[in-house]
Amino acid sequence: MAKEDYYDLLGVAKNVSPEDLKKAYRKKAIQYHPDKNPGNKESEEMFKKVSHAYEVLSDAEKRAAYDRYGPSAFDGSAGAGPRGPGGFPGGGGGGFHDPFDIFREVFGQQRGGGGSGGIFDEMFGGGGGGGGHDGADLRYDLEITLEEAARGLEKEISFRKNMACERCSGSGAEPGSKRVTCPTCRGAGQVRRSGGIITFTQTCPSCGGAGQRIEKPCTACRGEGRVPQTTKLTVRIPPGVDSGSRLRSSGNGEAGAAGGHAGDLYIVLAVKDHELFERQGDDLFCEIPVKFTLATLGGSIEVPTLFGKGSLKIPPATQSGTTFRLREKGMPSLRGGRQGDQLVRVHVEVPQSLSTEQRRILEEFARVSGDAAEPTSKSFFEKAKKFF
Ligand SMILES: [Zn+2]
Ligand SMILES: [Zn+2]
Repeated sequence: MAKEDYYDLLGVAKNVSPEDLKKAYRKKAIQYHPDKNPGNKESEEMFKKVSHAYEVLSDAEKRAAYDRYGPSAFDGSAGAGPRGPGGFPGGGGGGFHDPFDIFREVFGQQRGGGGSGGIFDEMFGGGGGGGGHDGADLRYDLEITLEEAARGLEKEISFRKNMACERCSGSGAEPGSKRVTCPTCRGAGQVRRSGGIITFTQTCPSCGGAGQRIEKPCTACRGEGRVPQTTKLTVRIPPGVDSGSRLRSSGNGEAGAAGGHAGDLYIVLAVKDHELFERQGDDLFCEIPVKFTLATLGGSIEVPTLFGKGSLKIPPATQSGTTFRLREKGMPSLRGGRQGDQLVRVHVEVPQSLSTEQRRILEEFARVSGDAAEPTSKSFFEKAKKFF
């Protein structure tokens, strides 16, 4: 059976944002939840599949691995999971979770801790009310060098975000003041309006439906509970990342308001082009000039690698364009697999100027060699004869 694409399963595009991904998962999870489809094996199967797809794609590191290797990288077995990225929570362990745990996690974290209902209110449109706004996820673009991508690094980044107000501890109320029942709606959150012969209810304009108001708004944040501030964070970038790799630092996005959860910070990496090396997946490619005498007679040359100097044996009669492989001198694998190789293509260089003596020796060499003695040129001239 062909592996289904995780993005297709969730009905999202490859470049979907984490928020939209979560939304898409919520929709599908509700659609296929066994409680909604009792006894339906097919939807139970789909429920497991979308949960699994979401688990992979919602984790920046696993998603990067998926984008590179496809679903076969996540074939169930616990040992095959990607390596945890160290400093990033949520990246860890190998195996996969119970689809119901993922479901509970996603639906559980949406609620601001409100007492009643829980996930099924959310699922089937009940509930309502509840506390707080969750903080927004943030994106931080980080450009690193190829060397840094190869070794991994720790970096302190600084950025502005809405953080919980210190003066009111995020409540929005001036210290000493408290929340009072909204006088407009008397705590109902809704007001009745009369429009001639009909009356209708609408969300209370004074309290926004919360039923409560802050007696005196905090003077530091004007009742918002959050203030924009510059913050610093040390992030750990694991070895092997590539342009487009995304790392999630959970809870380091914007602060939530009125008891809502903090968002996540996503660090999106861009790896700068390198002067010598061109990256091809985990392999590094470079071109190195070799003197024509060395290519003819053989020998060894010094080759730069990302990890210091390496040495490469050039066999006699090496032709220009021949590619050699330096094993495991490429990029480390983000998933903890085999390190990539460095591919070295030699470019045989013809001298640009000759001393009198060099010229004399080469003329002697040409005389001794005679015409078209080499196999490549021999077959070429045989074909060319047909045209003359
Ligand atoms: Zn405040
Ligand atoms: Zn009100």
